[in-house]
Amino acid sequence: MAHCVVPAAEEILDRAYPVLDKGFIRLVDYLGGDDRIVQAARVSFGQGTKSFREDAALIDHLLRNEHTSPFEQVVLTFHVKLPIFVARQWIRHRTARVNEISGRYSVMKDEFYLPGRPDVALQSRDSKQGRASEPVDEGTAEAVIARLETGQKAAYADYTSLVESGIARELARIDLPLSLYTEWYWQIDLHNLFRFITLRIDPHAQKEIRAYAEVILEMARKVAPVACQSFEEHILGGVRFSAAEMREIRRRLDPVAASGGPLTGKALERLEEKLRSGRQL
Ligand SMILES: Cc1cc2nc3c(=O)[nH]c(=O)nc-3n(C[C@H](O)[C@H](O)[C@H](O)COP(=O)(O)OP(=O)(O)OC[C@H]3O[C@@H](n4cnc5c(N)ncnc54)[C@H](O)[C@@H]3O)c2cc1C
Repeated sequence: MAHCVVPAAEEILDRAYPVLDKGFIRLVDYLGGDDRIVQAARVSFGQGTKSFREDAALIDHLLRNEHTSPFEQVVLTFHVKLPIFVARQWIRHRTARVNEISGRYSVMKDEFYLPGRPDVALQSRDSKQGRASEPVDEGTAEAVIARLETGQKAAYADYTSLVESGIARELARIDLPLSLYTEWYWQIDLHNLFRFITLRIDPHAQKEIRAYAEVILEMARKVAPVACQSFEEHILGGVRFSAAEMREIRRRLDPVAASGGPLTGKALERLEEKLRSGRQL
């Protein structure tokens, strides 16, 4: 069982991929790749190395059938710089190991996230959580950004003055806004990384964390391209249907053999949305 070196992953080690206005993600290290998934699976099957095609088919079979443990044998460590409001969403993914910069120990840098003009939108009418897909007009967007910036400057000026007057850093920081950038090392295995990407690349997730999930997927493709391809095919590109939705699909395919009445109202709308929303790969 050889140590896995993946040339494409080696090439991006330590390279900072920019995200948002001041953030980044760097791949610090990786353990294993597609080969490790195959080695781990073949240990349980008691079989040796096969051809690339057979290995790719094995990875695809494992992923499709949720035989997840071989994917946990691949581990990635990232250094991420991200606004605190993104970090609060991100940290909910409990299956990772994290080391974050300490605002008790270090003086926080004067670095805050400001959205671009196209990112400023009204509260969505359809979603209680999200924003409208159309941005507000340029003048309104500029005014919003200016207000956010003014608040950030004032908060940071207060913070600096408290720190300079000798107040403890752990207390001086408590009024700093959620737009402040933080940094952490984040280590996760490939199975749980796929879960993170699935949830955070989705259009229901906040745009700012989606930007990170997209870059993470790009980096994961370098480490385990075959596994990522299967993941994109079966998970990201797939849609899960309920029993009622399956009955409706069967009814459309074969109206004669159909059981039960057609789907109506909100349930039908949800099905139509799912049928439209399948990710284009
Ligand atoms: C669009 C969106 C909106 C959200 N809105 C809210 C919100 O309004 N409020 C809110 O509080 N949260 C919200 N969340 C967070 C969400 O509820 C989850 O906490 C978050 O997405 C992490 O998902 P997870 O538990 O699957 O991930 P992980 O914690 O990484 O877990 C991965 C897998 O491991 C399992 N697992 C993890 N820990 C354990 C354990 N100790 N024991 C057994 N199994 C475990 C999980 O069940 C899961 O299958 C939102 C998430 C998204 C994507």
